[in-house]
Amino acid sequence: MDEFNLRDKVAVITGGAGLICSEMARALARHGVKTGIIDLNEEAAVKTADEIEKTFGVQSLGISANVLDKSSLENARRMIIEKLGLTDILVNGAGGNSPSATTKVEKMDPVTDKTEDTFFGLQTEGFDRVFDLNFKGTLLPTMVFAADMVKRGSGNIINISSMNSYRPLTKIAAYSAAKAAVNNFTQWLAVHFSKTGVRVNAIAPGFLLTNQNRFLLVDEKTGELTQRAKKIINSTPMERFGTPDELTGTLLYLVSDMSKFVTGVVIPVDGGFSAYSGV
Ligand code: NAD
Repeated sequence: MDEFNLRDKVAVITGGAGLICSEMARALARHGVKTGIIDLNEEAAVKTADEIEKTFGVQSLGISANVLDKSSLENARRMIIEKLGLTDILVNGAGGNSPSATTKVEKMDPVTDKTEDTFFGLQTEGFDRVFDLNFKGTLLPTMVFAADMVKRGSGNIINISSMNSYRPLTKIAAYSAAKAAVNNFTQWLAVHFSKTGVRVNAIAPGFLLTNQNRFLLVDEKTGELTQRAKKIINSTPMERFGTPDELTGTLLYLVSDMSKFVTGVVIPVDGGFSAYSGV
């Protein structure tokens, strides 16, 4: 008997074609969960869903939708209901950072730094895009998919936060602000839904090397780790990057009845990063 008891549940995973969330989708499918893979990248979503269906023998559907466009999410919801059924689990995984919302310098030197390399060089549009993707990109899918859960009196929402939600990382102001907002929203909605049977929790992954942060962590020309990447390793007591499969145990715990009295928490899965003062 599978202690998670998730067979035939339906999970919607946004950003489901990405590195972390495709692994989360695989972990759910391995336990018999039908998966709706939502991603901006249609080809990757369909490919991921096909691979999951073949590997685990449970239905999986790849759909192109934008987490910032409610009508495309409504459309995805209709397709998922028709093909897989009503959603039991929502993983809000779509997210990421962008160079246009990233300062070039960590700590501003008002004498030697060029203004455009500092806070004052952040582009409003870039800031908005990153903030919206990470925060509104969590809010809107929740609005669309949680209504069915509330109606049925059960469901699980998992938001994907980050280390910078606790203490901001240098350079990435918009991403940090948005992930802090995700934690706050996780707590807010957990309380709001506490009498509905729908639980709301988050996972804050430590550092993994993926497409959305590669530009900060690997030197494009040499392929070597950047100074920033080395700092991360030094600040992670386990002295390495994490891997996507290391997040899935926490996911399975949070979406199963093993955690049925747990709501409104953000669980760090970080090799000790958030516990370490650096000394
Ligand atoms: P990734 O780039 O591999 O995956 C992100 C996916 O989201 C991509 O497939 C992309 O196409 C999709 N996406 C982007 N914008 C979208 C939109 N508007 N609508 C729908 N889909 C969209 O990145 P990842 O590292 O696997 O990140 C997954 C989540 O984990 C993100 O929320 C990220 O912020 C978070 N996270 C990552 C790390 C890390 O170290 N990689 C650490 C902490 C948190």
